[in-house]
Amino acid sequence: MSASYDDLMASLGLEPSAPKRPPAAHGDRRRYQRGCRCDECREANRLYKASWRAKRRSDPSLLGRATHGKASTYRQYGCRCDECRTANSADVAAWRARRRERAGGGS
Ligand SMILES: [Zn+2]
Ligand SMILES: [Zn+2]
Repeated sequence: MSASYDDLMASLGLEPSAPKRPPAAHGDRRRYQRGCRCDECREANRLYKASWRAKRRSDPSLLGRATHGKASTYRQYGCRCDECRTANSADVAAWRARRRERAGGGS
């Protein structure tokens, strides 16, 4: 079906449709990134993220480059030092305040 569509496009003097890459199989994180939310794809994505986080946490050199006292360090690197915890709670408080503002001043 797609081949005849390409033929039709070519006969009209148009570019055939862009070469299609075979879609990633279910259970492949790329499939999840393309929007599939089936159990297999979600699990693949979860595992990928978990291993990514574990890698960051287990590699002190990666954390060494992170700046402490930042909410992103708290969240992405899993740092729980005082500085990062303070930054994260300030960040959460600011986010809540913004959300309240938006909800309250709608009309
Ligand atoms: Zn899937
Ligand atoms: Zn820290």
